[in-house]
Parts: sequence; structure tokens; C-alpha cells
Amino acid sequence: MTALEPRPAAAFISLPSFGPATDPLDVIGWALRTHPDVTMPSAFNLNGVVLLDLAAKAGYGGEVVFVDTGYHFPETLATRERLAARYPELTFVTLNAGASPDDGQTPGNLYAADPDACCAVRKVAPLQRYLKEKGPSALLNARSRDQASTRTDIPFVEDGSVDKGGTRRKINPLAYWTRDMLEAYAAEHGLPVNPLYFDGFLSIGCWPCTRAVRPGEDARAGRWAGKGKTECGLWEGDGKL
Ligand code: SF4
Repeated sequence: MTALEPRPAAAFISLPSFGPATDPLDVIGWALRTHPDVTMPSAFNLNGVVLLDLAAKAGYGGEVVFVDTGYHFPETLATRERLAARYPELTFVTLNAGASPDDGQTPGNLYAADPDACCAVRKVAPLQRYLKEKGPSALLNARSRDQASTRTDIPFVEDGSVDKGGTRRKINPLAYWTRDMLEAYAAEHGLPVNPLYFDGFLSIGCWPCTRAVRPGEDARAGRWAGKGKTECGLWEGDGKL
């Protein structure tokens, strides 16, 4: 089967009886058996680093796909390098590699004037193009319910956008893990967490659109703060994966 052909319906028939206490490793194991072509986008936040480690432990040997918007913090790019060194069995792919604020992909301060448009060009489009080309039947995703009020109903498995005749699943093994559980896991296993996290940047995107979280705010409150925007467009909206 080529990447352009619809996915066989059989791959989407049975869902296991996962519950809130299901071990993420069991979810990942199911994902690897059911969707051998599963792939993993990542921005290397705390959730993403934990998922990456769990996936590697479960036997995932595929790609870790990062989109370089041109506006990432140096600490994020350094975290990516540390992870690539730690998990040589995984293939780290950078889309839009070499992007920079003055590369002409977007007008100078589009991130301030129209952040949806900026994300659409610099983040969503490169990943959409890549996934269209590769055609994976599922994505491993690191979102969790307690990250934001907009994510409180994330299931372990959700059927995503229709793409070239097939339905791409999003598999969220960390859906029920709390920030405390993620931090404990990262500490126990010595994972290379982005150092900005420990300065209050609990969710880290591009530097013009990310600030540290204040006491009492949810983990994603520092993303596009004051702009009425909560998602980049990969997981919500018309262009969601
Ligand atoms: S997070 Fe900000 S800088 Fe990054 S792509 Fe979106 S709008 Fe542009």
C-alpha cells in the first residue's frame, strides 16, 4: 500500500478498553501493534520528552518530527540535540530546517498582528505537507488533560482529520497523567527537560508568543497570552491533524 491509498478499515475497528488508570506504556504498545507506521511530532516540552522516553522503552523506533518555525528558543533547540544524542535508535527529523525570523516566510511581525496566520505558515503547513507525503495512519501525541481547560476531555485515542481517503488517529498515551506525574517521571529517569521549564515556562513554543506561567495559571497560560489564542492549529481548528 502506498502512502496515497486509503487506510484499510480493519485497522480502525477495535478499540481496547482503556481507562484513566491505564499505563501509558500499554497504550503505546497497542499503538505500535495497531499502527506500525505511527509517527511522533514533538516540540520537546515536558510532556513530549516523557512520551518520547516511554515510546522508546515500548520499542518505538520511528521518527520524531519537529517543526522549526524560526522563532524557537535556543534552549528548545539544545533540548532537541540532547534528546537526539540520548535516543540514537530514533530518527529526529526537522521540518522547515534553517528557518529564521527574517527568512521571508512571513512578514516581520506577523506573530503579533495575526498569530493564527503566522502559525499556519510556520508551524501547521510544514507538518501537514510532511504528513501528506508520508501518510501515517496514526500520530503519537503528548497532550494531557490537565494542561489547559481546553484539553480536559482528551481521550487516549481519537480519530483525526481525513487525509487522502484515510482517517488518521491521534493516540494520546499521557491523556490522564498530571503535571506532577510527568515531573516525577522526568526526574526519576533523568530526562533532558528544557531548562526554561524550571523558570516557569511550563509550555514552550516560540519566543515571541511564550511567557512564564504565573502562580495558579494552567500550564499553557503562557502561550499567546492576551491574544485570545490557545492552540497553534495542529490540534484544534480547520487545519488540525
Ligand atoms: S507561535 Fe508565534 S512565532 Fe511561532 S509560529 Fe505561531 S505566531 Fe508565529
